[in-house]
Order: sequence, then C-alpha cells, then structure tokens
Amino acid sequence: MVKVKKERNFKLEKQEILPGSRIIKTKNTKNRIDYFIENIEDNYSFKHTNLFKNKSDLINEFKIYREKWNDQPNTIIKKYKNTKSIKNNLITENILPLCIDLEVASICDLACPHCFREYLATPDKIIDLNFAKKTIKEASINGVKSIKFNWRGEPLLNPNLTDLIKYAKDVGIIETIINTNATNLTEKKSLDLINSGLDYMIYSFDGGSKKTYETLRPGRFKKNNFEQIIKNIRKFKSIRDQTNSKFPYTKIQMVLMESNRHEVESFKELFDDYVDEVTVTLYSERGGSLNDLPVDKKNKLENYLFEKNLPKNTPYMLDGEGNLFISLRRKTCKQIFQRLMVTYDGKVGMCCLDWGAKHNLGYLSNKGFSSKMEEKKIINNIKMKKKGFELLKDAKLPKTYNEPEKKILSIKEIWNGLELNKVRDMHLNDKINDIEVCKNCNSKDTFVWEKIN
Ligand code: SF4
Ligand code: SF4
Repeated sequence: MVKVKKERNFKLEKQEILPGSRIIKTKNTKNRIDYFIENIEDNYSFKHTNLFKNKSDLINEFKIYREKWNDQPNTIIKKYKNTKSIKNNLITENILPLCIDLEVASICDLACPHCFREYLATPDKIIDLNFAKKTIKEASINGVKSIKFNWRGEPLLNPNLTDLIKYAKDVGIIETIINTNATNLTEKKSLDLINSGLDYMIYSFDGGSKKTYETLRPGRFKKNNFEQIIKNIRKFKSIRDQTNSKFPYTKIQMVLMESNRHEVESFKELFDDYVDEVTVTLYSERGGSLNDLPVDKKNKLENYLFEKNLPKNTPYMLDGEGNLFISLRRKTCKQIFQRLMVTYDGKVGMCCLDWGAKHNLGYLSNKGFSSKMEEKKIINNIKMKKKGFELLKDAKLPKTYNEPEKKILSIKEIWNGLELNKVRDMHLNDKINDIEVCKNCNSKDTFVWEKIN
C-alpha cells in the first residue's frame, strides 16, 4: 500500500505565462544542467568512452548543446524573419539538428484519454534494430548531440532499448533521453537502464490518487495499477542509490487537467523524495471549445470576446494559477530549427506534435512507404473489437498533409531539404496557419498571448 504523507505547503513558481513545463520548486528540486555537470565523473560518456580527453571537454560540449537549444532557433528566427526564402542558409551557417527523436516503439500498453493515440490510429510496432543503429550513427556523424528514444509509444516495450542507448553513447551522443510510463520498469530493466548510459528519464504520471491516476492512465491489455507504478518508480531510485549511480537524472511530470488540478500537492508528496524533479505540465493550453473551461472562466472569456468583437473560436489558455489568456497571433516555431522526429518505419516529422509525421518531410527507410497499411490494420483491429483495442474505439485513420517523393534520403538531406525549408519559410513569413498541422497545433509556445484582466 502506498502511503501519502500529510500534505505540506509546497510553493508553486509564479510566472505570467508558463514556457514549456512548469517546475514545482520543492526542497529537493535540482537543475538538470547543473546536475549533469556536477556528476560528470559518473557519466557514461566520460567513464566508458574515449571520446573526451578530459572532463572539461565533455562539459563544454554539453553546455554548448544546451545553450544552443534556445539560442539556435532564436538567432535564426531573428536573422531570417520575413526573408522570402531561407534557401541554403542553414548549411552556410552550419546549423544542425540538436536532437533526433527516434521512435524505438510505436506500441503502447496504456490508453490515456488525453493522448493522440485515442483519435489517431497508431501502429503497434517496434523499430528495426539495424535501422535504429544506422540512424543513431548517422545522427552522430552529423553532429547531433542528443537522442530521445521515443515519440508515439512506450520505449520500454522495445527489448533492445538499453543496447541502443549504449550504442548511442558509444558513438558520441552526449545526452540520451526517454519518456516512460514506468509500467515495465522492472528491477532488471532499471539496472540495465542505469548501466546503459541513459542520462535523463522522464516519467509520465497523471494524478495524485489511485482513482484519478487509473482513470487517466488505463491499461490496454491489463489493468494498470497505481500502487505498482509508484513502487517501480521508488524502486528505481533505490537501485540507482544502491549502485552508487548518478544517472539517469529523473523527472516526473503530470499533465494538468481539470480532473487532477486538485491533486498537485498529493502528486508532489508521492514522488518528491524519489525523483530529481517534479513537474506539472499544462494540457488545456489552447481552447477549441468554450465548454472546456470552468463556468466562471467561460463566462469571463465569452464576455471579453463579445465586448471586443472577437471570434468565438479565438485561441485561449488557462494557466496553472487560473489566469486566462487569449491569442490573436502565432509566432515562428522553434522546433523546426531544433530537432527531427523519426517514426519506427523511417518517416520524418517536423515536430513532436506532428503525430506520426502527417506532414511528412521525407523517408530514412523504405518501410515508411507503406505506413498507411499499418495504420489501416489498427483501424481493422478496432472494428473487429480485438483485445487491447476496446479503449481506442474513437481512433481514425490519420490524414496525410504532405507526401514527399518516395525515395530514401539522409538526415542531412531532410534537415536541409526543400520540404522542411518550405515549412520554415512559411513560419518566418507569418503563414503558419497555412500549414494544416501547424494550424491545428496547440503548442502554447507558438502563440503570442495576452492576459485578460
Ligand atoms: S503512456 Fe504515453 S504514449 Fe501511451 S497512451 Fe499514455 S500518453 Fe499515450
Ligand atoms: S507550430 Fe506546432 S505543429 Fe507546427 S512545427 Fe511547431 S509545434 Fe509543430
């Protein structure tokens, strides 16, 4: 039985607009960047590879990569805003992707009601090992510094995950990352992950009570169990301690929804002593329907829009403190200058919200040529009411918004290619809503917000 200690009064960090995720400061919160540097001697790249002559070389590379995360998009956006075409300027300026998100498993064992999988048919697949290694190697040769080993599915369902992480570290990737729901985080897997060179592990766990958690994170094939997942996460910490290991740095995040808003304190209480960082992320960032809001906020927003003669579907955001914001303008997205997303079958998407590469930028493998067939199989399984598909009954075949030529390209060719540059040009020239996926995107970082007082 998991015991929740008596609630303490934690302090939420106040911000007007919450950029990215919202960090809850507690006595234990550590900064991930400082943590990496402080514990550099225990990092796999330093201990087990000969790629860095000394600690400071590795620290410098890490710092440069982290600083570039925001500096790279910001500088390019500032420099090329409103220029007709970015052409080959990213090549001239030696701008490379900073991260590749490699989908080692598109299968997931949960069916969370707030996940894209609920309405977009997503294949239950594992990446081919040789293709994964080839992509990792190619990324490293092209100067990519980090790899996140998941996108649409649960990475621990790939039995080769830890081999791939180790391989990435051995070929020079500085930061290896996974997001996991921790359902398969057994003791053996925990030890393997610690030994593999994993740098950063993010747990997704929504809610501070059994009822809320099991409603928001139901199992597809068997019942998901609140107590067991907490046990897995706590056990991981004790194994990391027992083995005197510092990595991976661990963060747990909860997606804030109306149904769990009242459980932030108990969520923190459950995990504060067992992870390096506790985070709450906004979900309802941009409205689509006024019905999503609590009544008082809905009235406030409706009155405001009416008074200002603004359309009813004006994007809005409710922040963690209950402040309402509206947006009348989009802004150039940073992701298209930071990363590339690769599906298990080698299609490349432009960002984490382009679920399964609906706006396909190109192919790293010919397996992706027949992606649609795999999606259709899922629809068929749903229709046939097969086991594990009951909760996915509303999933539809994803639309295709961009179909590049069916030929295999390299990471570099896609990053500097026509398809992605077309997207960049539209973003830089305020035509973001002309790209279907971007028009429907709810990333709050791509809106200019104003608070309604
Ligand atoms: S665990 Fe993650 S990928 Fe799986 S259904 Fe939930 S949100 Fe989606
Ligand atoms: S605006 Fe949204 S959909 Fe478009 S690239 Fe950025 S994150 Fe992706």
